[in-house]
Amino acid sequence: MRKLDLPNKAASSVLALCIQSIRDAGLKERLTAAMDHIEFAEASYLEHAELGKLFQIVQEADVDGVTAEEMKRVYKGTFARSKKTRHIYDLIKKLPANDICPMCGQRTVGTLDHYLAQSLHPALTITPANLLPSCADCNKSKLDAQPLQENEQTLHPYFDNVDDSAWLFAELLEESPAALRYVVKPPAGWSATKQERVLHHFVVFGLGALYASHSAAELVNIRYGLQRISKLGTAKEVREHLQLQFESHQDAHPNSWQTAMYRALVASDWFCEGGFN
Ligand SMILES: [Zn+2]
Repeated sequence: MRKLDLPNKAASSVLALCIQSIRDAGLKERLTAAMDHIEFAEASYLEHAELGKLFQIVQEADVDGVTAEEMKRVYKGTFARSKKTRHIYDLIKKLPANDICPMCGQRTVGTLDHYLAQSLHPALTITPANLLPSCADCNKSKLDAQPLQENEQTLHPYFDNVDDSAWLFAELLEESPAALRYVVKPPAGWSATKQERVLHHFVVFGLGALYASHSAAELVNIRYGLQRISKLGTAKEVREHLQLQFESHQDAHPNSWQTAMYRALVASDWFCEGGFN
């Protein structure tokens, strides 16, 4: 997961702009009356998120006089479309560097995902802190179900930081062709909950299979270069080259599949001595 800055927009300002864009006088009135509820829900969300306890937020059927279905229509039909609000939608979507999905760190952002499902938390439907840039696959992988306990929460890019230590590792399968298997090994110094959440995130988004397939393609891409290096030198030069790749990827993203892959390749005598062939 890649950390993002919390969007600097309040739910109340999003709601006020949505209300300006809505023609239905009755809905306008009911949304205006729901403003306090939505602001209160946002404050509670921020408090719970800081503590990693969003699973404790109680589900609701509606927002005062506004139904969950109406909130969904406000999100889809107004917030994501109206000239008055679209720039906020786009601002959130553009938060990740190079449009890379923060959940998988691999695919391109295509949408916004509600961290707490809009069907269960209508008061958080247009709350920026609950809206995460996401690729289409990650958006689909996360079901609308409410996490029931702390360790069943996927990582939250605005509030969690898991790049303070290495936790993603690869195991090299020394066979022909070589392949990598990805495993989560969080540091012992992390709390049990943090360790369990990073593993849960890895499983929910299917990152093991995603990273195995991209690393298998990468092994094919680097083969020719490694053959050239080994023709002119020895396994030592191959390892030095791989070490530089490892350090470069680690500097950019300590828990990317590339960092884990090159760490595993550097550590393998078999690979450096010709396993890449
Ligand atoms: Zn993704």
